[in-house]
Amino acid sequence: MLQQRTLKTLTKAVGVGLHSGQRVELTLRPAQPDTGIVFRRVDLAQPIDIPVSAEAVTDTRLASTISNGDAKIHTVEHLMSACAGLGIDNLYVDINGEEMPILDGSSASFVFLLQSTGIELQKAPRRFVRLLRPVEVREGEGDKLKWARLEPYHGFKLSFEIDFAHRVVDSTGQRVEFDLSTGSYVRDIARARTFGFTKDVEMMRANGLSLGGGLDNAIVMDDYRVLNTDGLRYDDEFVKHKILDAMGDLYLLGKPLLAAYSAFRSGHAMNNRLLRELLAQQDAWEVVTFVDEKKAPAGFLQPARAW
Ligand SMILES: [Zn+2]
Repeated sequence: MLQQRTLKTLTKAVGVGLHSGQRVELTLRPAQPDTGIVFRRVDLAQPIDIPVSAEAVTDTRLASTISNGDAKIHTVEHLMSACAGLGIDNLYVDINGEEMPILDGSSASFVFLLQSTGIELQKAPRRFVRLLRPVEVREGEGDKLKWARLEPYHGFKLSFEIDFAHRVVDSTGQRVEFDLSTGSYVRDIARARTFGFTKDVEMMRANGLSLGGGLDNAIVMDDYRVLNTDGLRYDDEFVKHKILDAMGDLYLLGKPLLAAYSAFRSGHAMNNRLLRELLAQQDAWEVVTFVDEKKAPAGFLQPARAW
């Protein structure tokens, strides 16, 4: 049987939020089968749980924000991506602030945290959402066109294309495909950092955003070059970060997808619209388990390989 997974023990991290600059403490704890991933604001007088779901996403400007009533948590996508990459189904994420720590700007630090406690197999079947027919969302035309699509596939793969009018980004690979069954999420995707441009950062700071951002947690570019002295971690780090983000955004569905995702200039908003469209089209998918492991997609039995 393909089993659900959680952590063996709890683990903690401290960091600052990318936009708020606020220092927060994070505790990742094991959870019972069928709990799903539940964020918990432990700094409120009465702690409030925010279970992940497509509907819990209430803001997609700059990052994916989830809410329950007035309680919210910003920038959940990088931890969610790490959970998708490692196949973690059940987890409590206790946080004493409003924004997840950005750490190094990728999901590598979350992967390290999750892997260092060990992953526990649970006595319950993993439930997948399997696509039965394509679902697509699209917006704009010409230079403004963007779209995202899910199609039936026995496994999970992503293909992403970006189109930035910037000489540094343009000179790198603009399109990447990644198949989870290769087991190479940790090596090939997790280290890709978020990125920004100095002129946007200045404008954002003036508006009280990106206060925690800097060269140690993002790729920062001026009009001509990357300002980080060590350069890029992958030749195509920009589009790989878009794959990392898409994996996190899609994992907010609450269950792993069996589908092929493809996207052109998508982002957090469009990824969430795609999930809502999927849920609205109830004949486009079904929930499946794999009692017979031989029927499971290749590569899904083992958690992702380590470095
Ligand atoms: Zn990101």
